[in-house]
Amino acid sequence: MSLTQQETLAGWGNYPFSSSYTIHPTEVQEWQQAVQQGNFIARGLGRSYADQATNKNHVVGIATKMNRFLHWDAQQGILQCEAGVSLEEIITVFAPQGWLPMICPGTKFVTIGGAIANDIHGKAHHVDGSFMNCVLSFTILLANGEIVTASRTENADLFIANFGGLGLLGVILTATLQLRKIETTYFRQQSVKVKNLDEMLAALEKYAHYNYSVAWIDSLAKGDQLGRGVLTVGNAASLAELPPALQQKPLQLHKKSVLQVPFFLPGFVLNNFTVRILNKVIGFVQNSPKEFIHYEKFFFPLDAIHHWNRGYGKRGFIQYQFVIPEAGGEQTLRTIMEMIAKSGCTPFLNVFKKMGQGQGILSFPFAGYTLAIDFPVTKGLKAFTEKLDKVVLDAGGRLYLGKDAMLEPAMFQQMYPQFTEWLAIKQKYDPENKFTSDIGRRLQLS
Ligand SMILES: Cc1cc2nc3c(=O)[nH]c(=O)nc-3n(C[C@H](O)[C@H](O)[C@H](O)COP(=O)(O)OP(=O)(O)OC[C@H]3O[C@@H](n4cnc5c(N)ncnc54)[C@H](O)[C@@H]3O)c2cc1C
Repeated sequence: MSLTQQETLAGWGNYPFSSSYTIHPTEVQEWQQAVQQGNFIARGLGRSYADQATNKNHVVGIATKMNRFLHWDAQQGILQCEAGVSLEEIITVFAPQGWLPMICPGTKFVTIGGAIANDIHGKAHHVDGSFMNCVLSFTILLANGEIVTASRTENADLFIANFGGLGLLGVILTATLQLRKIETTYFRQQSVKVKNLDEMLAALEKYAHYNYSVAWIDSLAKGDQLGRGVLTVGNAASLAELPPALQQKPLQLHKKSVLQVPFFLPGFVLNNFTVRILNKVIGFVQNSPKEFIHYEKFFFPLDAIHHWNRGYGKRGFIQYQFVIPEAGGEQTLRTIMEMIAKSGCTPFLNVFKKMGQGQGILSFPFAGYTLAIDFPVTKGLKAFTEKLDKVVLDAGGRLYLGKDAMLEPAMFQQMYPQFTEWLAIKQKYDPENKFTSDIGRRLQLS
């Protein structure tokens, strides 16, 4: 295999960039050849935020051409497909037949391989758990060239370690997934405006019986208004409860978006003033939703504008997402929000929710509060996130590795003390360290 195509790659945050050799396999043999040579990582649609799917001066295999559906059991809703299939492709084919993916993150442009490697979660984590819960089994190409099946009963250690394993244990080739039966592609939702953090936490409890729940928090609110925002909750809408106009086409698909940010906006576009206006607009839109809303707007509002990440300009941005236990969580949230307000690092989007029980080894979620904050990359940002890391760690929390751009190994190891268990599995299946990536090197996982 000759490697001539060198590409500058980044994650969704356009930070950091790194130059890797890319290949686009269409057959298993191409993956096998590439893996044989070592220093290799698979990549899906590049929706991780930072260096999860980049591999400086080494090889990145882009999985999106391995996107065939292999078998469909229409009775049980069980789909076998290649790992380069995206949630969007699954939705497009199966939603009109009355099935949706069980777990949907904030964008439908993620592949099944990427969803497994980051063990992604959605707005119903407290009910459905993370992506592992919809995967019955997968096949994976190992460092020794073998392809094996992993499930809860076969190579169970490999199965579990891949959820949150950042692609560092092999190339996931195919997966067998449980989809969810739906009567309609609509959701019945309710929005609750809250004035501050106390009200937000009270509202989360009050509306905990809803399956889906997520809050937007005004990133610039301070003092008595700290934590101000809108909590949106909802459930899948049944056919009977849809208004007559929507009952005509209850399994309506999303329309392809035509809007996009065509180029990187200049860095000065996002400043305190524009972020304040944008937050007002978001607050207004969140607080005035229709009762019945299509999955596209319910799950994937950000997909409405392609390349919205360019809005942060060429400097890029990070998404800092942490989870902390509920006990003592309120004070920690307050401390972090106050630190942000004083920091001079203008946060843009703050997304808040309560998570349910965790699972896996390096999988991110556990029961508690999670907050995701977008920060444009600025000179003082790393020093600031290091301060936040300490607060998160002291509260018993950790960062989402699928989004992290800045963690240092010592902090990572304290946040994920179970990393030694994961490394033992890595050693068993990849003793020569053939699977490497930029985050793998940064966190000393490869
Ligand atoms: C707008 C937006 C909203 C988001 N919302 C959420 C959310 O609500 N919840 C959540 O959990 N995440 C969320 N994410 C993050 C996203 O779901 C994850 O980063 C997901 O893993 C991206 O999938 P991908 O196909 O783009 O993978 P990539 O980003 O390309 O890769 C991610 C990881 O998967 C590995 N990988 C990819 N394919 C394979 C394969 N075939 N075999 C082995 N390893 C592989 C890569 O090596 C890498 O480590 C969001 C991202 C964006 C941009």
